[in-house]
Amino acid sequence: MRIGLGLQPGQELVLTAPTDALPLVRLITAHAYKAGAKLVTTFYSDDAATLARYQNAPDESFDYAPAWYHDAIATAFKSGAARMGVTGANPALLAQQDPAKVSRANVAASKASKPAMELITRHEINWTIVAAATPAWAKLVFPDDPEPAALSKLWDAIFFASRITSDDPVAQWKQHGENLKRRVDFLNGRRYHSLRFYTPDGATDLTVGLADQHLWAGGGTTAGNGVYCQPNIPTEECFTTPHKDRVNGFVTASKPLSHQGTLIENIRCEFKDGKIVKATATAGEEAINKLISTDEGARKLGEVALVPHNSPIAQGGILFWNTLFDENAASHIALGQAYSTCLIGGEKMSNEELAKLGANESLIHVDWMIGGPTMNVDGLAEDGTAEPLMRAGDWV
Ligand code: ZN
Ligand code: ZN
Repeated sequence: MRIGLGLQPGQELVLTAPTDALPLVRLITAHAYKAGAKLVTTFYSDDAATLARYQNAPDESFDYAPAWYHDAIATAFKSGAARMGVTGANPALLAQQDPAKVSRANVAASKASKPAMELITRHEINWTIVAAATPAWAKLVFPDDPEPAALSKLWDAIFFASRITSDDPVAQWKQHGENLKRRVDFLNGRRYHSLRFYTPDGATDLTVGLADQHLWAGGGTTAGNGVYCQPNIPTEECFTTPHKDRVNGFVTASKPLSHQGTLIENIRCEFKDGKIVKATATAGEEAINKLISTDEGARKLGEVALVPHNSPIAQGGILFWNTLFDENAASHIALGQAYSTCLIGGEKMSNEELAKLGANESLIHVDWMIGGPTMNVDGLAEDGTAEPLMRAGDWV
């Protein structure tokens, strides 16, 4: 409550969580009330029920999402509620289901949740996401272990990655936050025109233009409601808004991506003037192509993030199949919606003003990992002068 969410006395809390996270949610709820929460309300999702829909629901079900539910969440945020998400659903839940149905359901859900999501991407309220180890997730991460061992290994990995294994995690997080802020301040001082990502094996050579008036962010942030929070636990990234029309070259993913229950492996994309002109994958190719066809902005970048290879998550060497963790183990880019808070004065701009500066707009925001132990990153000035930022995955 003190480091992640920054829940305020008298503030309402809206939680979302998988049913398998029930014990953790009960603990969080008790601590939220101790911290002065006015009311804690949790909305549970259940993997078995989600699967039952794909196996049994009529076809028209997949174009429908409960707007009434998402509107209620948006209303809660507008009336001052904080938001906490607990992640832990089975990353491969929908791997065997029809990708067309999965994509239709995702589009419907993204449309319905837009009013609530906008309050999050604009950082209007204090929010955070944390993880709970669940049996199905643990089995995917540690397939060779029996369930109890896999589960306890996943909990250990979550605690290690989240920097809460020391005697004083609150102090450690403050220090970590200050380190991230130093990097962010440095990057903001440089005013790079673009970044170039390249690997010696030739798998990646991508130039990512940065939006005019882009602002780097990382670690904690003060939300529009004045509350300081760490939106992700763990977090290792310094991130900013790319220019939606100035991305060129090709990039190969360094880790598989689990998107809404589908696994997408070895993604390779070619960009021209900001847009993906070709996307391939060795598994889930249909899913990635459906994803980038969601809307006009789904083919363009909304985020670019630098993460050193020597972060604890990267050093743990575990593939989590969960973006909250995997994105903090490697430099990454995100397709879709940009964060308006990553532009100077962006939180007060209209969508048209944001677009003019190069910020992308889309129903989706999907991070995928491109960094690793061989990634080099240069910061480029407008005249093309290059400065080394990262070599072999780590800060220069
Ligand atoms: Zn990110
Ligand atoms: Zn992201």
